[in-house]
Parts: sequence; structure tokens; C-alpha cells
Amino acid sequence: SLSIQGLRLSYGTLEVLRGIDLEIPKGSVTCIVGPSGSGKSTLLRSLNRLVEMNDGQVMLDDTDIRSMKPETLRARVGMVFQHFNLFPDHTARENVMLSLTKIKGLGRTKARAIADARLAEVGLQGRGDHRPSSLSGGQQQRVAIARALAMDPEVVLFDEVTSALDPELVKGVLNLMADLGRRGMTMVVVTHEMGFARQVADQIVFMDEGKIVEAGPPDVLFESPKTDRLKKFFAEVM
Ligand code: ATP
Ligand code: MG
Repeated sequence: SLSIQGLRLSYGTLEVLRGIDLEIPKGSVTCIVGPSGSGKSTLLRSLNRLVEMNDGQVMLDDTDIRSMKPETLRARVGMVFQHFNLFPDHTARENVMLSLTKIKGLGRTKARAIADARLAEVGLQGRGDHRPSSLSGGQQQRVAIARALAMDPEVVLFDEVTSALDPELVKGVLNLMADLGRRGMTMVVVTHEMGFARQVADQIVFMDEGKIVEAGPPDVLFESPKTDRLKKFFAEVM
């Protein structure tokens, strides 16, 4: 589980996260929603230290994430991005193998077996030899998800992973994520897909201007939003 307390983060003089408190229980799916610029990506990025917080504390189980080596943290807290971030000159299999050999120090035979198993799990059996450019956007995003899963992470962070996909490919990736959630993966998902959030999330977190404005189970938030800001947000996105 992740426990976030009093998290603050500024870019120069711009205060982007202004005191975030949030519990991410093991095995839960948390969806983070909110307007553009509210700090959703920054919050995710701070959880695996792609950006450093200025104040507050994030505990991964019993460990303060600032006491961990960034590689160790990122092996335990995986991340999937909007634009896949695959290495274009490597095959799908090699993209999945890289962290296994470089960070976990596995031999190539072992890494290859794990990579092929993970690719099969995301529906890409037989595609291991393809370069990203010869895969669809949805398939590329599956490779990125397989890459995150290959490290056996305790938590996976997803930042608008379907936003860059052609509409017909969105559903397949969302179904895969829903499946991971059902299988007990701890997930933090920034998304504009309100249907997914409502169906899959255990808790929804609504952020605005660097703060959590409302959080709770989907039924409560969707059916009886308390604040005008959340009502307005729902009216705009649904
Ligand atoms: P979106 O829905 O558009 O992705 P977001 O909620 O993910 O928005 P963030 O990307 O976290 O928002 O950005 C929050 C604020 O921080 C914005 O005002 C943004 O301009 C600013 N910001 C983000 N990254 C940087 C950076 N590297 N340097 C300076 N300012 C930044
Ligand atoms: Mg963002």
C-alpha cells in the first residue's frame, strides 16, 4: 500500500500540489480525475520520484520512498505513460526485457521467458519480435503495460494511458486494465474515462488546483457530489 501525507510540490514559484493526503490500500484501484493542470500527473510522478516532493511523506508499506534508491522504487512502483515511452529500436520483447536485465540483473534466458509470458498475458503472444512502429497504438500500450508488470510491481501508476489511442483501441486497453484490477493489482489510474472510473475504481479522487477536493467510492461521488466544483466537472466531462 501507499500512504501519502501532506505532500507538497512546487515548480519554481508555482505550487502544484498543495497538501495531498491519500491512502492507496493494497489490491485497490484508485482513479484520479480532475481538470487539466490540477496536478494529477505531478502527483503520479512524485510517487515514483520522477519529480521530488518539497514537503510531506510517502510511505510504500513501511518505507519512506525518499530513503529508497529511485531504481528500487520504480521496480516496486511501475508506471505506464500516455505516449508509451517504448524504445523504438528495440523489439517488443526487448522493451520488456530491458529492466529485467538492467535493473533486476536477470540473465537473458530468464528475462526472455518472463517477457514472453507477460506479453502473452496482455494478448501479444507471437508479437515479441515486432518493433513498436509495426504495432498499433493499442498494442504498443500493451507492451508498455507488460513492461511494467514484468518487474512484479506492488503498485502500477497509469497516466492517461488511453488518451493518445485511436477510439477503437481504447476499449481493449481499458478491459485489460479492468482485468488487472480484478486480479488484485494495486493501481492508481489518472483517466478521463468516467465509465471506467465508475465501474472499476474502489475509490475516486477528484483533484482541483493541487488539492483533493472530494474522494470516495464511485457510487457516492457520481451520485451525490458534494461540491459545486465536482458537479461542474462532471457536467463538463460527461
Ligand atoms: P492534464 O489533465 O492536462 O494532464 P494534470 O492534472 O496532469 O493536467 P500536471 O501536468 O500535473 O497537471 O500540471 C500541474 C501544473 O504544473 C500545471 O500548471 C503545469 O503547467 C505545471 N507543470 C507541470 N510540469 C511542469 C514542469 N516540469 N515545470 C513547470 N511546471 C510544470
Ligand atoms: Mg496529466
